[in-house]
Amino acid sequence: MIQPNSELIIDYELVRNNIQIIRSQLPDSSKFMGIVKSNAYGHDLETAIKALNDSVDGFGVVRMEEAQMVRQSSLKPILMMQGVYSSESYDLLEKNNIWTVLHSLAQLPLALKYKDDLIFWLKVNTGMNRLGVELNKLDQFTDFFKSSNVLMSHLACSDNPEDKLNKEQFFRFNEAWTNVGKSMQRSILNSNGAMNFPEHAYDWSRIGIGMYGGLSNFLNLKTAMRFRSQIVAVQNLKSGERVGYGGRIKISRDTKLAIVYCGYADGFPQTAVDGTYVSINDQMVPILGRVSMDLLSIDITNLSQCVIGDWCEFWSEDLSINANAEKNNLISYELMSKLSPRVKRQYLNV
Ligand SMILES: *Cc1c(COP(=O)(O)O)cnc(C)c1O
Repeated sequence: MIQPNSELIIDYELVRNNIQIIRSQLPDSSKFMGIVKSNAYGHDLETAIKALNDSVDGFGVVRMEEAQMVRQSSLKPILMMQGVYSSESYDLLEKNNIWTVLHSLAQLPLALKYKDDLIFWLKVNTGMNRLGVELNKLDQFTDFFKSSNVLMSHLACSDNPEDKLNKEQFFRFNEAWTNVGKSMQRSILNSNGAMNFPEHAYDWSRIGIGMYGGLSNFLNLKTAMRFRSQIVAVQNLKSGERVGYGGRIKISRDTKLAIVYCGYADGFPQTAVDGTYVSINDQMVPILGRVSMDLLSIDITNLSQCVIGDWCEFWSEDLSINANAEKNNLISYELMSKLSPRVKRQYLNV
């Protein structure tokens, strides 16, 4: 056995397949903005741009550094989805031909200076109440009502198509579009929106988590990252013994325990409960006891074959990241974006 490490193997062929699946849900007229904020949801921004540039129509980011990095290797449209806030930033947008979002009246005075030089996405608040101009304040942005610009909004409940807020948001979005004289392009869907409400795709869809295979209700999309580490010890415990920090669990049968070289400092959730499934030698086995910084423990009593050096997979193409997220009341977005730098990366099919 060589010195073990936790590993992340990201297969961009899986990401491109996911993109094709999502595109097939959407009308051809809707352009696909691949969202690559937060280091491409943990999939490495630079690699993502190389691997996905030909599969998307544009990229969405939230930091100026990200936007500039994307521009270095792509000529596609780039959108700063949460706007910019200084004249230095606006100058950088102009220099690098980057689009930006206007979401509040406070941004207006500075933005007006650039109204003829940049593409603006005007964000309207339709009910999420995070970012966005109020419907009745839209008329203060008339300088931006033009067909090269885009009217946008964001859905609060797109993962739950039954929630009535969706309908209300679509209704208000349509009202806003009427208020701007139907003079702009439109964009309201994220990944869940694309799967649940493709009839609202309009001119641009903004797709993040779905590309990476983190949409829990659509399992034909595959988790594109294989997160794994090796077993470094095996314990044979007698019934009645307790496991790990806090002795959280007291076992009620003789138990064989595998100790795996990965912990919360790698990005495995510290709050993971007993019974969270991982995969060893293609069999599903549960974690047992509290996850520590560098190690976690797995109940392998039922495995016929399992030795030190065997790989333990936490999530992969074959074991959806959503299973772990749902078991632990987390979301795939958080698991993906919190994988730590010490995990060894490998990229396939870039
Ligand atoms: C992150 C983000 C998206 C992408 O959302 P997913 O659920 O990952 O598809 C779309 N639009 C905005 C404004 C975002 O911030």
